[in-house]
Formats: sequence, structure tokens, C-alpha cells
Amino acid sequence: MSQNAELAPYACDPALSRGRRYAQPPAPTRSEFQRDRDRIVHSTAFRRLVYKTQVFLNHEGDLFRTRLTHSLEVAQLGRSIARSLRLNEDLVETVCLAHDLGHTPFGHAGQDALNECMQDYGGFEHNLQSLRVVDTLEERYPDYNGINLTFETREGILKHCSRRNAELMEQREPGGVGERFLRGWQPSLEAQLCNLADEIAYNAHDVDDGVRSGLISIEQLCAVPLFERYRQQALAADASLHAPAEQRRLLNETIRRMLSDQVYDVIDATTAALTEHTPCSVDDVRRAPALVGFSAPMRAESLALKQFLFRELYRHPQVTETMGLAQRVVRELFDVYFQSPHELPAAQATDAQRGDTLKRARVVSDFIAGMTDRYAGREHERLTGQRLLNP
Ligand code: MG
Repeated sequence: MSQNAELAPYACDPALSRGRRYAQPPAPTRSEFQRDRDRIVHSTAFRRLVYKTQVFLNHEGDLFRTRLTHSLEVAQLGRSIARSLRLNEDLVETVCLAHDLGHTPFGHAGQDALNECMQDYGGFEHNLQSLRVVDTLEERYPDYNGINLTFETREGILKHCSRRNAELMEQREPGGVGERFLRGWQPSLEAQLCNLADEIAYNAHDVDDGVRSGLISIEQLCAVPLFERYRQQALAADASLHAPAEQRRLLNETIRRMLSDQVYDVIDATTAALTEHTPCSVDDVRRAPALVGFSAPMRAESLALKQFLFRELYRHPQVTETMGLAQRVVRELFDVYFQSPHELPAAQATDAQRGDTLKRARVVSDFIAGMTDRYAGREHERLTGQRLLNP
């Protein structure tokens, strides 16, 4: 059933979905993409996002973003842009909510450490892991592993993929979600939009969290054109924001203006690209260049903000010190489980001892990747007697 009479011809129509890995009759009241979204919200991996690091560790403060609140903000931005572009809002929401399901504990530091541990066993990559979560690791149905999502949702979840992994995927699933990486095709506009919404969301909320943490200051941010323009606009609109007591309100108003303008910029620039390329179907979209994006000036300014955050926040000594400890936790957990699989919970221990070292490493990697920050810290303490991270 088509849920949205207003859907543009280049949008993903759930009635025209390329289907699920295991065929199922349609749901009586929900579209295929709404059904995917509901499966994601009810998944175990989704609940774990609340205790997984975005930038700051979970115990460092109650107001910092976690993977869960980050994913909700991405979904909000994605949906609001999707509506304006007449894309499928349900699919955008679905992919946004699922986009970080494969993240390890401790953010990118955790992923890098796990990838190093897995070097001889096929590596670890969080996009691939997100797909692995929904295809294989969730155990909810009697007949198969995974939550059996549609092609379109899975296509959106697999944001990046190396050629090698795409080839492996293509062998297992010919013409599936790995194919576009071999042929140089784009994903749907809904998937393209989720990538950009992710970037808009973290640029904005990392400014907020960075200032809240005290690791970056508003004075430093004044040198970033994208931030400074909206700060000046906010001050010009309301002089009371000059007061020292109003600095939190000024920061919020600056970020709000910055977010709105980026949303409008994406809508305008994407509308222009759609007018130029006139795709008439999702397949046209897949064969066209990437069409969802910022205007060139906004792209440059967004990049400058991202570089600022990288330099001043993600590489801040206090952040890198914590992340160094987090990497040690992941490495030592991997070593202990790999050497002594009986330390794993019963189900994983059985799995790990059933196959070769390749299989054992993957079982250990899946188990660690699924951990929340605090569970990883506690397990590390149980196995090594050292408390590195937990308060
Ligand atoms: Mg993200």
C-alpha cells in the first residue's frame, strides 16, 4: 500500500520495495518501512545505544549525547528534510534510528581498537556491523536470525563498504546491498539524506556538548565562520543575549539558527540537483551522482566546523586520554576472551569453541561490539582486576 500520496517519483515507495530476505505477507496497518522502524525500536541493539558513547563516556555527565539521543536527533533532522523534499519520511526515520546500531562501546576509539584486534580475522567496521546486527545478530524470530528488514533499509544502513567486503557480500547475496560499491552507484535519496543528517546533527551537538564539558569555549568557536555568523545573528535579534548570565541561552540560540539554516540549505541545494538531474525513479537516483547535499559554500563551512571539532574536541588531551584507556579495555577484553573463551557467556562460549580461530575471533568481536560502555568497563574489571574507566 502506498502510504503517502505526496511521495515524489524519486522517493522510495514501500509498495515497490525490493523486499525482505525472507518473504513475509504485508502488515495490515503499517507500510514495509514503518514495520522496519518498529523492528529496530524493539531490538536489543537499539536499547544498548543509550549506554554507548558518542564523544563523552556515559558516566562523564547526564546531559551529554549518547548514541541513542544522537540517533533521535539524526532522525528528527532527517524526517523534517524528507518531508520538504517529498521523500519517504518513514524510511528516513528507520535508517536514521538504525545507522549506529553497530557501534562498539567507547565510540570511534572502541571501533579502532577492535579493528586492530581483528586485523588477522577480517577486520571490524561499524557500518558492516550495523548490517550484521539487523541481518544476523538479533535473535527474535523462530525461523531465522536477524530482524529481516527490507532491502531499502539495509541499503541505507550500509553507508560505507570496502571493495573487498562488497565482493564477499555480492557472493553471498548477488545483486544485494554490496553491489553498489562495486558498480559505483548511489543509494536511495533517503539513505543519502541520513548520512547528511548524521553530519549536521553531530556537528551541532558536539559544539553543545563540547562547550558544556568545558573542553572548548565560545571564544574559540567565534573563529569558526559557521558558528560566528549565527551567534552574531542571535545577538542582533536580541540584545539581552549579550549578558554574561545568558551565555547558555545564546549558545542554544546560535545552534538552533545554525541547524535551521543547514536544513534549508540542504533542501534548496538538493531541490536544485533534482531539477538538474530529473530522476524519475529510485533506479534513476541510484545511477545518478549523489544528489542530496549542501550548497558549495555551506559544504565548505560545515567542513571547517568539523575540522575545528576534530582538532579542539576529539583530539583534546582529556578526550584522547580517556579514549586511550577505553582502547586498552577493548584490547584486553579481546585478548582474554580469545585466549579463554570459557569466560564468555555460555551461548557465546559454545559458539566460540565450535569453530576455527576465524570463527572464534568473530564471536568475540560481536560480543565486544554489542557491549555498552559500562558493561565493557565492568567485564574488564572482572577479568583483569583493574578499574580503568568506571567511576
Ligand atoms: Mg551517527
